[in-house]
Amino acid sequence: MPFGPARIAATNRYAEGRGSRHHPVTIGIPDRTWRDATELAIPAHRVYPLAAQDAVLYLDSIGRGGMLSNRLCVFRIGCPPAHCPCLTRACLATSSDPMLSYDRDLTMWATQTLTAKDTMSRILIAECKQEVSTFNPAPSRYEDFRVVKGADLLDFHYNTREEVGGALSVFDAAADVELVPSYGASSNTSGGVLAAESFNRLLHDYSSAIATARDLNTIDAAYICLHGAMQAENENDPEGALLHQARRILGEQIPIVVSVDIHGILTDRMLQLADAVVVYHTYPHIDFYETGVRAATLLLKILRDEIRPVTARVKIPTLARGDEMITATGAVGECIRKAQEIEAGVDGLAAGVMWGNPFTDVPELRSNAVVVMDGDEEAAQTLALDLAQRFWTHHEKMQVPLASLQDAVQQAAAVAAGTVVMMDAADATSSGASGDSNAILREALHQGYEGTILAPLVDQAAVEFAFRAGVGGSFRAHLGGAVDGQR
Ligand SMILES: [Zn+2]
Repeated sequence: MPFGPARIAATNRYAEGRGSRHHPVTIGIPDRTWRDATELAIPAHRVYPLAAQDAVLYLDSIGRGGMLSNRLCVFRIGCPPAHCPCLTRACLATSSDPMLSYDRDLTMWATQTLTAKDTMSRILIAECKQEVSTFNPAPSRYEDFRVVKGADLLDFHYNTREEVGGALSVFDAAADVELVPSYGASSNTSGGVLAAESFNRLLHDYSSAIATARDLNTIDAAYICLHGAMQAENENDPEGALLHQARRILGEQIPIVVSVDIHGILTDRMLQLADAVVVYHTYPHIDFYETGVRAATLLLKILRDEIRPVTARVKIPTLARGDEMITATGAVGECIRKAQEIEAGVDGLAAGVMWGNPFTDVPELRSNAVVVMDGDEEAAQTLALDLAQRFWTHHEKMQVPLASLQDAVQQAAAVAAGTVVMMDAADATSSGASGDSNAILREALHQGYEGTILAPLVDQAAVEFAFRAGVGGSFRAHLGGAVDGQR
């Protein structure tokens, strides 16, 4: 048994005295004051501070076609009028009942309206996804991200089949959920380590968006969509830092559920800060949307006090790539099917294995088995250990037998007909590499290979030469090592 207790970690946010998410709203009998209205420059003729002093009721008579109706709004004290929800969003309710002109009736009406309103759960949505390769010397930058903020985050994801889109489908089907979109950043392509100033900007913009969302709403829960394989020049655990900011701003009380890629790196800090982590079940990835559905379903169960998630994680000392990691056909598929069985079973909430991205060279890079159960910490640990052992059983098979470059070119030359594909997986731009290695091409030339070669190479200068030469033209240039001079 390769996994001792030191590698088994369990987190139970509820057991640590957190996880109570109730935010009672108390409406006091009006302690009438005009001061707040004056300070906020609201043309109110009645202002009613709430007992909690965190919101103000505002009654205004507005004329509509000769009729007077009374409008009741809620906004946050200290909230500048330009950002006041009353001015930017629909008011809570409108009534043309003339009896509302009496304070007593107004208070009752306000109480009923607010009580009804408060049964709504406000779920904050945030996203930040990037996978990097530490070995690419060209840093990635903020400009490499697709960034959407506020309502645009929802608009974007209603048209995609990604995790946030899947989560929205669950939240939208719930009548008592109101969405609070904050910030979404997703890198357009994988690349080198994120430049320090870019990560600082990303963290700042993400944190500011969450803080603004919190200032305008009472946030009851958060769904945060991450990839998990980021690294910044100044931070080896960017996802942990993002979750830390979310916790700092939103507090310890609300549930936060996170979704991550199977290639993500599950750090101790992420485990401690999230109520539950939900992992993809497929590679190649075809369950983005479904992962969002699973994460959102779990979050709603926490929000409705139906479950108390506890998480167990087992660290597995492997880094694996190759065909055995294809979930439908490879050896790892057994672990995935077991994880799905756990999720579908009694008390199962989420389960998966993550084998990380070997090119994100950070201290906590490893494989992990993770299981989230309802209340049963012991079961979570037993099942996580079982997943880890199943994974470990196959670790020797996961060591891909590779031919040397010399042998590979010789084998290719021996093929009489058809196309031979040679793959330099370590130089795949889709995994963040620079894509400018000329190793295969060089060996083929060295051996005098006589076939036609299609060799994709990232090299801007050579491309410019090619454009200048035109179709059918020829030119001489250095090829390869354009981004990574070590190649
Ligand atoms: Zn992945």
